[in-house]
Amino acid sequence: MRVTAVYPGTFDPMTVGHIDVARRASRMFDDVIVAVAASTSKSPFFSLEERVDMATTILEELENVTVQSFGGLLVDYAAEVGSKVIVRGLRAISDFEYEVQIAGVNRHLDPEIETVFIAASQEYTFLSSSIVREIARMHGDVSEFVHPVVIESFSRRHHRALHEGNA
Ligand code: ADP
Repeated sequence: MRVTAVYPGTFDPMTVGHIDVARRASRMFDDVIVAVAASTSKSPFFSLEERVDMATTILEELENVTVQSFGGLLVDYAAEVGSKVIVRGLRAISDFEYEVQIAGVNRHLDPEIETVFIAASQEYTFLSSSIVREIARMHGDVSEFVHPVVIESFSRRHHRALHEGNA
């Protein structure tokens, strides 16, 4: 029986920390679906389409990893794609409390769902999408933290903002 895992997140944008988790999950499971959440309540910086397109390009070389978008409840989406495993990354104790709470809620909603935590690699424990967005907003160098395709997307945004006189 093939085991498919879902790795959900906002990925606004995907960082090398996320890539690391996706790569490690791809070695543990037969198939991994990186599920990009619409996350409308978070008002993401990049559109859902941009986040999906970037993640697709970034993870292209991982053969058993695909990228999809989803809205609504994660457990419903997981059932739809035939997965009972949710992968999440853990950076620090600060992630732990929230992540365990969400895992509990998801198990309550669907008792067959298991959440598997992958500990962040030491060098990425400080890294988050919001830190990357903040550095990029100040025109800092984020090349160590994200794939070049993300840098292109930030540049496009900056140019558009300049054009519209909002920069
Ligand atoms: P969400 O809005 O669902 O928290 P994120 O895109 O911020 O989505 O994160 C998706 C998942 O990736 C979460 O489980 C988060 O803890 C994990 N994650 C984020 N950054 C890193 C990192 N640097 N290393 C490992 N895991 C990470």
